Amino acid sequence: MIATAVRRGSRAMRFQLVAWAPIMLVGLDRATSNLGAFGSPMDMMVAQHVAIAFEVVVTSLGVADRFMVIKRQRDRARAETRQLEIEVERDELTGLHNRRAIRLRFDALCASGFDTMAVIDLDHFKQVNDTRGHAVGDEVLRHVASALMPDENTIAVRMGGEEFMLILRGSNAVARAEHRRRAITARVASQMPGLGSPVTASMGLVSQPRNSSVHSDFGTLYAHCDRLLYEAKRAGRNRTMSERIMRFGQMTPEQAEDYPDPAVAI
Ligand code: GH3
Ligand code: MG
Ligand code: MG
Repeated sequence: MIATAVRRGSRAMRFQLVAWAPIMLVGLDRATSNLGAFGSPMDMMVAQHVAIAFEVVVTSLGVADRFMVIKRQRDRARAETRQLEIEVERDELTGLHNRRAIRLRFDALCASGFDTMAVIDLDHFKQVNDTRGHAVGDEVLRHVASALMPDENTIAVRMGGEEFMLILRGSNAVARAEHRRRAITARVASQMPGLGSPVTASMGLVSQPRNSSVHSDFGTLYAHCDRLLYEAKRAGRNRTMSERIMRFGQMTPEQAEDYPDPAVAI
């Protein structure tokens, strides 16, 4: 059993082998002495006690070693779990958050002041794939992601395909989102000059009342943004349609300056 366990790489059994070796040797020596194989029986009490003490110490070290191995395995499993959690919530192509990540955190984000949602969709992106190939399309998507410039007040998400989302907080949220939408065209043109026609994007944007304790849920806001995006596409693409959600008594004069479009009360 010991040999099999050692062959299989058992560290605990190696410790046991070392721990028990002196006791085995002393025992063997006493047995053979008592049988008269090597002269008269020896009094080996001291050696026996030392061997037992050695066994206790080495077995304790073996137990400590086992705990350390278990701790290392647990730490590795935790690190792998954390890494998997990160990967599961990241878009592989662009490195942005994915839809799942944002859906799960949306309520917490609203509570920490993120009050503006924008859905951005590239215009006629299928043509890029059809004329330049899928790999070039992927490269465009990576440049689009970097043009969205996520920062502590701006979260960028790849919702899927060529559709992205911005979630913003703080002042001038509408202008900042619009700046990023336009940056897509500029960034792709500068990074991929041989692409030919410019890559433009349409955007649907909805803002909630700032500092309000009541928030619309993710699905409701997303549906609003999607409808506005569709309107932007129908109106000719490469533009933004925005709305602000009003609740009575919630708007401040500074907020009102943010929005060029008429307010829609819901
Ligand atoms: P519209 O202006 O109406 O949005 O037109 P569109 O061509 O952008 O929209 P459509 O939905 O017809 O096509 C989207 C295209 O996006 C289809 C698909 O080939 C491409 N696409 C989706 N995901 C990826 C991806 O991960 N990589 C690449 N290269 N292309 C993708
Ligand atoms: Mg599109
Ligand atoms: Mg699309």
